[in-house]
Amino acid sequence: MKCPSCSGKLAQMSAGGVSVDVCSAGCGGMWFDRKEIEHFDEQHEFDLEKVLTKKGSTAANASKVRKCPRCTVEVMARMSFDNKNQVEIDQCWMCAGVWLDGGELSTIRSQFKTAADRQKAGDDYVNKAGEAFSAALQRERLSRKIEESHLEEKMNVFQRAILMLVRGLRNNPLE
Ligand SMILES: [Zn+2]
Ligand SMILES: [Zn+2]
Repeated sequence: MKCPSCSGKLAQMSAGGVSVDVCSAGCGGMWFDRKEIEHFDEQHEFDLEKVLTKKGSTAANASKVRKCPRCTVEVMARMSFDNKNQVEIDQCWMCAGVWLDGGELSTIRSQFKTAADRQKAGDDYVNKAGEAFSAALQRERLSRKIEESHLEEKMNVFQRAILMLVRGLRNNPLE
């Protein structure tokens, strides 16, 4: 797969028994595939340190329209995680994969110092993004005639992705 930000080649990395596609030779961004997200569960602790420490050698281009590395044609939706707009999470409405720029998780951790603050920010994001995601899926359903059950399935994968992110932050406290 190609990096949606710098077009570099994504390399598969393993963390806590889950594989993540990282733009290790380029911008340091990472892709969480739907199938990869489905492996996240209570039994698997995801070691974010491995990917968090990845510093990209190429700057991520935030202004560029990003197409999903999996679907290749689908433009990903971008939503700000924090009020300062320093962290923007890209999500593919079609395959429910998640893209994070290199260092974004570190930025979240430096912005929200305590585990409680990060938990709160994560919960706020889940609420905000959940509403947007469900609205986008409804529009998609109307325009493409997608079954209602497929929407629910995608919603579940999306929530898992966000929970994974929040849990990862919770399990990797700075203090
Ligand atoms: Zn890249
Ligand atoms: Zn996709």
